[in-house]
Amino acid sequence: MAKQPMLKFVTVEKEMPEKRPPDLRARDFHEIYAEYADQKAAEQAGRCSQCGVPYCQSHCPLHNNIPDWLRLTAEGRLEEAYEVSQATNTFPEICGRICPQDRLCEGNCVIEQSGHGTVTIGQVEKYITDTAWERGWVKAIAPETEREESVAIIGAGPGGLAAADRLRRAGVQVTVYDRYDRAGGLMTYGIPGFKLEKDVVMRRNDQLESGGVTFVLNCDVGTDISFDEIREKHDAVLIATGVYKSRDLGGPGAGLDNIVRAIDYLTASNRVGFGDDVPEFESGALNAAGKRVVVIGGGDTAMDCVRTAVRQGAESVKCLYRRDRTNMPGSQREVANAEEEGVEFVWLTAPKGFTGSAHVTGVKVAQMRLGQPDQTGRQSPEEIEGADYTEDADLVIKALGFEPEELPKLWGVDGLEVTRWGTIKADFRTHETSLGGVYAVGDVVRGASLVVWAIRDGREAADAILDRFAAAAAPVAAE
Ligand code: FAD
Ligand code: SF4
Ligand code: SF4
Repeated sequence: MAKQPMLKFVTVEKEMPEKRPPDLRARDFHEIYAEYADQKAAEQAGRCSQCGVPYCQSHCPLHNNIPDWLRLTAEGRLEEAYEVSQATNTFPEICGRICPQDRLCEGNCVIEQSGHGTVTIGQVEKYITDTAWERGWVKAIAPETEREESVAIIGAGPGGLAAADRLRRAGVQVTVYDRYDRAGGLMTYGIPGFKLEKDVVMRRNDQLESGGVTFVLNCDVGTDISFDEIREKHDAVLIATGVYKSRDLGGPGAGLDNIVRAIDYLTASNRVGFGDDVPEFESGALNAAGKRVVVIGGGDTAMDCVRTAVRQGAESVKCLYRRDRTNMPGSQREVANAEEEGVEFVWLTAPKGFTGSAHVTGVKVAQMRLGQPDQTGRQSPEEIEGADYTEDADLVIKALGFEPEELPKLWGVDGLEVTRWGTIKADFRTHETSLGGVYAVGDVVRGASLVVWAIRDGREAADAILDRFAAAAAPVAAE
């Protein structure tokens, strides 16, 4: 009888792939984890206890069939593992790299809860699809029949691209419009290479393009083409434009030079990585080299900024956050990575203003303590009177979160309803908006969220659009 490959969590310890030492990884923008060797991936997948009710699966936004692809990996049946994995996830190798697994699948793994350390689901998912690419198992997009219907997708982030993939595989004519020169949205220009190397994203863009998706890049909808024009040209429209309006900071000195927005800073850094000409980087305005950098914020964007600044050769990097470590929104894994790379976290601090004449020279900092819980149960930070001080800084990066732009106004669209937060109102299942035949997905509906949720929305909206086309094509029943 074949040896039982599963249920090894008692005898085999949790092991992540090798992580590059901090002093080495802080010198470049390559990913910090190596790939599992084949045997190690099989061994780690074999730690899964094959739960009858897999909580990992129910807490994955895509409801990936995790136990099955873990078993197939443990048995060395990798191509089948890939088939199962890609059936529910358009970009498994991307999610495996950048999902906050500790809050999703792995955070709900029962063997983690029994004290054995979670199955390393994300790393195995990444390994399966990276292997599939390497061995040529990833199939080209080749629809069996071409259909006449055409869909416009505005926004080439994960939400738009997941929908494009699904619609194109069904033979629909798909045109993706994006204001940037490369597709991928925040996967291309927001998330740094040390979390997600760019050729992983470009490979997917190429796959879509060679599968017949038309990309109209450098095209800002609302400026270069109107929304109404797009609507007239296509049978359905999907809005997947994300959220890009940065929350700002006021206070004395807020307008000084070298106080910059996180999205501008990270976009410039990613462009430099592509080899683009970036004058703001060359001039030093968006370059941390040799500077005392202060990043304000405690989310994942702040974590990406501090770690980017380290790699650009900053003299020092500090992160100010108004709550403490336990109450920060960013992933603990990323904080640990940042600390290993030399970032200093200054907990319970908030900016009150900035010093300097033309350029910023410091941040006036108020010290905080945690007070009573608010309506959400989170303790509110309160200022400690008389405890202010100044933190020296040559570059201040504001990473305080994002809000949606006012799309209906920007695009001059009547009847496109938004919520009181400015996000687009869409049916939670079909993703159709208040305008018939117009759908919306991802951050522009949810507010700043995650790649995996955008993928789920995009796939669901594509299915709803296909249902709409099927209903329109169905013969009308005789009275
Ligand atoms: P986006 O990815 O924002 O794509 C929207 C696209 O629409 C863009 O390409 C934009 O150019 C285009 N667009 C906008 N307006 C127009 C217009 N008028 N005309 C034409 N095109 C337009 N999520 C994770 O899961 N893991 C992470 O580690 C992670 N790290 C992050 C790090 C940073 C710095 C940031 C900012 C976000 C991070 N996220 C992460 C969140 C994640 O990137 C987003 O939730 C996700 O990309 C949203 O996908 P989307 O398709 O809705 O929008
Ligand atoms: Fe976990 Fe994300 Fe993969 Fe789902 S998609 S299994 S949440 S890493
Ligand atoms: Fe395996 Fe953990 Fe999922 Fe259970 S919860 S099926 S042990 S990965």
